Amino acid sequence: MRMWPSRWVKGGVGLAVVLLSGCKASSTSDDHHYGYDESHYTHGYFVDARDTGHYFPDTGWSLNRESEACIGDTLYFETANERVRVYGSPAYSETTFRAAATELDNRIDDVLSQFRMGWHDFIDERSAAAPYPKQLIACLSPHVADAELSSASLSAVAIAPYHGSWPYDTGQILTHDLAHYVQENLSRYNAHHTLLPLWFAEGQATVVAGEPIASAYQHYDYEPLRDVTREDAGNASLRYEHYALAYRYLEKANGALAMTLLLDLVQFMDWKGDYPGVISSGESRAFVEAFDAVELVDHRGRYLSFARFRAEYHELLGASY
Ligand SMILES: [Zn+2]
Repeated sequence: MRMWPSRWVKGGVGLAVVLLSGCKASSTSDDHHYGYDESHYTHGYFVDARDTGHYFPDTGWSLNRESEACIGDTLYFETANERVRVYGSPAYSETTFRAAATELDNRIDDVLSQFRMGWHDFIDERSAAAPYPKQLIACLSPHVADAELSSASLSAVAIAPYHGSWPYDTGQILTHDLAHYVQENLSRYNAHHTLLPLWFAEGQATVVAGEPIASAYQHYDYEPLRDVTREDAGNASLRYEHYALAYRYLEKANGALAMTLLLDLVQFMDWKGDYPGVISSGESRAFVEAFDAVELVDHRGRYLSFARFRAEYHELLGASY
């Protein structure tokens, strides 16, 4: 878990070394309807926290409303490799615990590979403030609607508790929410809320999940960078495709590893505490400072500050295809 070694504290270049060990794994896509043979479930065990002492985290700052539902649940299923724990009420079926653990355990490596990380890199980069930094924690939560399936916070991924009702695109939705889970763990140290603009977080999760992205020539159809928080965003159905377009512009010009370094640098800003609060357009100062410090470039290789990306978004997109 992250203790912020001196190479970071000194600042400056050289931060790339941290993450270069992550290797790219091949990703498999399976478009099956949800529900597969139980013999494919990941091996594991049902345990009770009253025996192990491993209670569901009760740290409100790192949970969302959906995952808070598991505070006080003592039953959990842990995979035999000890990476994934699924907590929930004993009223839910064993199959749902096993299916949730299997989905998470099967998908996390592919998600991390898109962040150019392996499992051990991820554990190392997580905040020391995260409960159970060596495990992926999930909560079967009655507060997650079946249609929405899952919802991620820094401490846990909340999942709808009736696996018979999970949608056919369960794999893609869980991949999207695992991307949020990874983002939050890489970008927050102990901030009580996300430090990422909505368009960046959703754009990256959309790209990681392989969901639709708007075409570059449609860039005038929406203003993704104005959606900094959920309150800023309307209901336009197009907006996720445009968040993804904005995010992918940055990733194409700079590479996926640079995006991970950006998240890591946001976490460093949070840990240092020198850039609290938000700027006038609503983005966290930690994000804006990190964006500028990580020295991103535009599609022509010219330095791209956050202010320029925001001001020249349409010019940049228009010239990029
Ligand atoms: Zn999302």
